[in-house]
Amino acid sequence: MAVKNSPQPPRSRLIGNILLLAGLVFLSINLLFPQIFSQGPAQVPYSMFIHQVQEGDVTSAYVGQNQIRYQLKGDEKNPGQILATTPIFDLELPKLLEAKGVEFAAAPPPGNRWFFNILGWVIPPIIFVLVFQFFANRGGGGGGPQGALSISKSKAKVYVEGDAQRITFEDVAGVEEAKTELVEIVDFLKNPQRYNQIGARIPKGVLLVGPPGTGKTLLAKAVAGEAGVSFFSISGSEFVELFVGVGSARVRDLFEQAKKQAPCIIFIDELDAIGKSRATGGFYGGNDEREQTLNQLLTEMDGFGDAGATVIVLAATNRPESLDPALLRPGRFDRQVLVDRPDLSGREAILKIHAQNVKLDPSVDLKAIATRTPGFAGADLANLVNEAALLAARNQRQLVAQEDFAEAIERVVAGLEKKSRVLNDKEKKIVAYHEVGHAIVGYVMPGGGRVEKISIIPRGMAALGYTLQLPTEDRFLLDEAELRGQIATLLGGRSAEEIIFGSITTGASNDLQRATDLAERMVRSYGMSKVLGPLAFEEQRAMFLGEGANGRSISEETAQAIDREVKDIVEMAHQQALEILKRNRDLLETISEKLLEKEVIEGETLHDLLGQVAKEVAVS
Ligand code: ADP
Ligand code: MG
Ligand code: ZN
Repeated sequence: MAVKNSPQPPRSRLIGNILLLAGLVFLSINLLFPQIFSQGPAQVPYSMFIHQVQEGDVTSAYVGQNQIRYQLKGDEKNPGQILATTPIFDLELPKLLEAKGVEFAAAPPPGNRWFFNILGWVIPPIIFVLVFQFFANRGGGGGGPQGALSISKSKAKVYVEGDAQRITFEDVAGVEEAKTELVEIVDFLKNPQRYNQIGARIPKGVLLVGPPGTGKTLLAKAVAGEAGVSFFSISGSEFVELFVGVGSARVRDLFEQAKKQAPCIIFIDELDAIGKSRATGGFYGGNDEREQTLNQLLTEMDGFGDAGATVIVLAATNRPESLDPALLRPGRFDRQVLVDRPDLSGREAILKIHAQNVKLDPSVDLKAIATRTPGFAGADLANLVNEAALLAARNQRQLVAQEDFAEAIERVVAGLEKKSRVLNDKEKKIVAYHEVGHAIVGYVMPGGGRVEKISIIPRGMAALGYTLQLPTEDRFLLDEAELRGQIATLLGGRSAEEIIFGSITTGASNDLQRATDLAERMVRSYGMSKVLGPLAFEEQRAMFLGEGANGRSISEETAQAIDREVKDIVEMAHQQALEILKRNRDLLETISEKLLEKEVIEGETLHDLLGQVAKEVAVS
């Protein structure tokens, strides 16, 4: 899809602008205050002028709008001197002049002076506009306005119908519900008259809500592609500019352009950047600029549609709870479409789409890859396919193989392998026991999936070693025992350190954090505490539409009870982990020795070793 964007103003044009500007400033000052630059005739009070007329000293006079210029009779010192005075609205003056035989004319201001007067009023605003434009250009750094008065030409990228490589619904997978809802929008755009005839109001705004990378932008483009209409795209953050008024002017401009191209789609990415609730201004107090932009957006959305032009505004956000309620009212973004992370079959479908771009070994099993990537969004999967292709190319292979995907998953999950980071022998030993501790407890306890790999090769920024547990299926619900199992597994590393070395290191801090979080959620959100009962004490943090935004306010006592419960859960899991490891101490030693030697244990070898774990201890 080609992107049409206004060209960047060349540097020479900028300099030309500055020169033009300086010239105009000079000219307009000159016109407004001519006295500064030219010596006028000597000024005389009006009373003096009248006196001189009555004395018969005045030979001729020009009565102008702003000035009366006159000549005195045979002034010895200054023959031919012209004096001037400010006229007063005086109907008697012509009579007086006539009576005294003064030659006079009510001359129009000399030359085309009125024209210059008008110019004097017109030019300063133009200069102002030019200065404004100059800074707006510098600040925005973007698409150039054409001509003096277009300070705010929107920077919307326009994708026009018929552009090569049109995106359609075929390019989007794993978000079937969202697609079903958007099919309707496509129909609105294709056959607006059918709806108008019957008197139905076509929705103006559709809000796409979902985590980053799930395909919101892609879906919006696909709607335009399916309907074969133009697609204007702009990001919310681009509206927020340095100067007050530019953002709202940009909104106006965008809608104007769009209306000319109707039917069409306006896509506003990151709507929360302008649409933040006015109540939650945060540190900024009131952000005038954002508020004006928001108001303009609301005005435009209320305004169009009446004119019969079919313009549908699609917007994307991953924080719908922060949006101003005014945006969500009927007639604005009254439709909301959830674009969620894909499930197993969705992931497989997305992988299929992106695998078309790479040369795949026929043996590659996309379903198996999908199984191992729960929680991945569409963008992560696209990235995964690319990583796998990169790995295959680096290893001089012609086709992307399953093993490339396996390694790519680990990369995407845990960051790049860093073989360069060197641990000393003592540290290595601690890390080995720590990871095997996780593995053994994870093998025994439910909820964590199958242990597939233990490694003491550092990866990413933080982890010195890692234990990879992969789910065997997509899980949407976990029961209490499984959650407790996960907490125990997280504490397995630290427990192994305690048993073997009698002391603990700083390596477990991330484990403890995650264990505590889990336990806290069990108590606060899932009602899994016997003491507190099935109440939700969730903090004020709504995730997505629908999920409760209304937390309870908590009393001091309850807060203490929650703390106690969390501590109990974690401590109990700790004891369980210790017990499992003590029972399996010999095996802990054996596997750790082996890990120290090989650095990585996985697959069959690992399953065989873990198969020797004495399991029965876990039940308690
Ligand atoms: P969002 O706007 O939700 O953050 P994008 O639409 O920008 O996500 O997704 C980025 C890229 O990830 C897309 O260009 C596409 O290649 C891929 N992608 C994301 N979601 C999907 C999906 N559901 N199906 C296919 N590809 C997807
Ligand atoms: Mg996006
Ligand atoms: Zn750990």
